[in-house]
Amino acid sequence: MAQKDTYDVIIIGGGPAGLTAGIYVKRAALEAVLIEKGAPGGQVCITKGVENYPGFTDIGGFDLSDRFFQHAKSYDLETIQDEVVGIEPGKQLHRVRLAGGQELKAHSVIMAAGGTARKLNVPGEGENFGKGVSYCATCDGFFFRDKVVCVIGGGDTALEDALYLAKITKRVYLIHRRDEFRGSKILQQRVFAEPAVEIILNTVPTSILSDEGGVTGVALRNTVTGEERELAVDGAFIFVGFSPNSALVPSGVKMSDSGYVVTDDKCETTIPGIFCAGDLRRNFAKQIVIAASEGCIAALAAARHVEAQKARARVSAG
Ligand code: NAP
Repeated sequence: MAQKDTYDVIIIGGGPAGLTAGIYVKRAALEAVLIEKGAPGGQVCITKGVENYPGFTDIGGFDLSDRFFQHAKSYDLETIQDEVVGIEPGKQLHRVRLAGGQELKAHSVIMAAGGTARKLNVPGEGENFGKGVSYCATCDGFFFRDKVVCVIGGGDTALEDALYLAKITKRVYLIHRRDEFRGSKILQQRVFAEPAVEIILNTVPTSILSDEGGVTGVALRNTVTGEERELAVDGAFIFVGFSPNSALVPSGVKMSDSGYVVTDDKCETTIPGIFCAGDLRRNFAKQIVIAASEGCIAALAAARHVEAQKARARVSAG
């Protein structure tokens, strides 16, 4: 439960963007609360290792997000665990409704709600979630020690997590729908050099096979030849991108065709005082360092917005 009803800034989301925004708004001496529905840290928490955040050659995803959190907490940022179910834009104050029933108001709102793992939407996927189907290698890899798994996808997450699983499991089939990977060259080189990873290209899963004990295999179709076959695996790790958590975005905010929030260079949306930062925002790339820097920009711009509103209120009051 939030300590107050009205704040200068409400931050939605406790990933790198939200926590960085929290650090900056507190340094600007603003009254702020950060609302996060799960554990703080966002997607970074479920990343095994981070090798491209400046200052850290290799740090665990959980450790990095905990550092962000502790840093924000060192400025006494108020954080609450609740889900935002709606934002109602207002002229002076915007309203933020929480699943817990509370309604908060603020001059500025920073939406930093990120995204969630995209589903393949093939038969057998939903019913086998937790029974061999996983969207998180760091969380579930341990259960597949010395077993055979497949990784589906060709982006950075699929490549990174195939390498992680190769250290734990007996064999990793890396299944990608095209003949070249989208993920970074350095990860591709490592995957090609990893003997425990077998690459299957131009191939899509058409269903996840299972019995009463969980996943037993995947049915595959070659996208070039049309050939269909079954591959026996104990687990299927699905990393086919993520979808922005846009359900909370109020109507009137401009969105891109693919569902991301469009902002100006101050991270301000088409509604004054409502900002967006990180993976929910339409931007060039999804990286932790980019989310953090957008959190900074949004916070600095939100602080400017709050000051301007308070100055206007003083003028009209007196
Ligand atoms: P992504 O880059 O969007 O890659 C998704 C992959 O899944 C693509 O290879 C795509 O194939 C494939 N795919 C999508 N839909 C599919 C379907 N229905 N069936 C089969 N395959 C499908 O997603 P991501 O890997 O989760 O990465 C998200 C963002 O985070 C990226 O910007 C990435 O660079 C970043 N990231 C960075 C790091 C890092 O720097 N250490 C780590 C993780 C993620 P196509 O290639 O054919 O489209």
